Amino acid sequence: MKASTGTSDLLGMTLEQLQEFCAAEGFPRFTAKQICDWLYKKRVDNIDSMTNLSLVQRARLKEIAHIGRETPVRCQVSKDGTKKYLFSVPAQVPPAHVETVFIPDDDRATLCVSCQVGCKMGCRFCVTGQQGFHGNLSAGDILNQLFSIPEFEQLTNVVFMGMGEPMDNLDAILAATQVLTSPWGLGWSPKRITVSTVGIIPGLKRFLEESLCHLAVSLHNPVPQERLQIMPVQKAFPLNEVLALLRKYDWSSQRRLSFEYTMFHGMNDDLVHAQKLVDALKGLDCRVNLIRFHESPEAPYKTSTPTMIKDFQEYLNRHGVICTLRASRGQDIDAACGLLAGKE
Ligand code: SF4
Repeated sequence: MKASTGTSDLLGMTLEQLQEFCAAEGFPRFTAKQICDWLYKKRVDNIDSMTNLSLVQRARLKEIAHIGRETPVRCQVSKDGTKKYLFSVPAQVPPAHVETVFIPDDDRATLCVSCQVGCKMGCRFCVTGQQGFHGNLSAGDILNQLFSIPEFEQLTNVVFMGMGEPMDNLDAILAATQVLTSPWGLGWSPKRITVSTVGIIPGLKRFLEESLCHLAVSLHNPVPQERLQIMPVQKAFPLNEVLALLRKYDWSSQRRLSFEYTMFHGMNDDLVHAQKLVDALKGLDCRVNLIRFHESPEAPYKTSTPTMIKDFQEYLNRHGVICTLRASRGQDIDAACGLLAGKE
């Protein structure tokens, strides 16, 4: 977490940033690569462990920097094995918290990470959105959510679908994904990472140019006036403009495009909406993930019935749109989609 003492956090720095940092300190250029290895390959949590740096270098590094690792302050375990971690963000005033969800599933283990404290987007069905915005996480804050949980070695996938809108904190997202995918970092394939968005077009354009990670767009309603009622972002960045941008890119090879569609009873879950959704996505190589709405006191909506969800899913599949129903995980600990609140 960004230290408040004027020192820098090393976690989250790219190799290039570490080279600049070392140059400013008069360290040899190769020291940056050595620090990178300690941070990202060996994942040490203290500077003393960086034993191929001289004692003088380590002493100086401790004066000017921290690793930037913070262990979670709480872990809740669901009866289905999902775990929800709470991390403090001390740099925020007053100190705030974000949540991270670990989802084990047969041969996969996915981590859903947060990128902001709260969120500016104000989606009406989302507990995070009802909290307002309290600040951005740094790349180090984001990576710490992976590095500081005991399940790090098990992780097969990371999704940026926790608290916050990734395209509204894109510098940090791109730096974090660069660490995850670069040979000098963790060396993961970008296919293991999915970044979600409600469709902020300037950020989305840059993301599509600079990243190869998968993209998930929160769609939720194909009818513009109805989408606007649950997603204020529709006003500034209408869905048709987002789709027009997405059509300019090739989705048939490495990068996957999916649309998230939360099923609200009586609002967007009938076959008229299914047909409009099929029409809206025509010509796009994509899939749709249906999500059961998880009711909460903060949102006045109801969950669709299993029959409506099944009929909707079958309609899409019959009409050439691959459609899956996302399993609800961690509902008993408020870890499911749209329920993250970061409450201590
Ligand atoms: Fe923000 Fe995502 Fe919640 Fe919308 S759904 S308010 S973008 S966290």
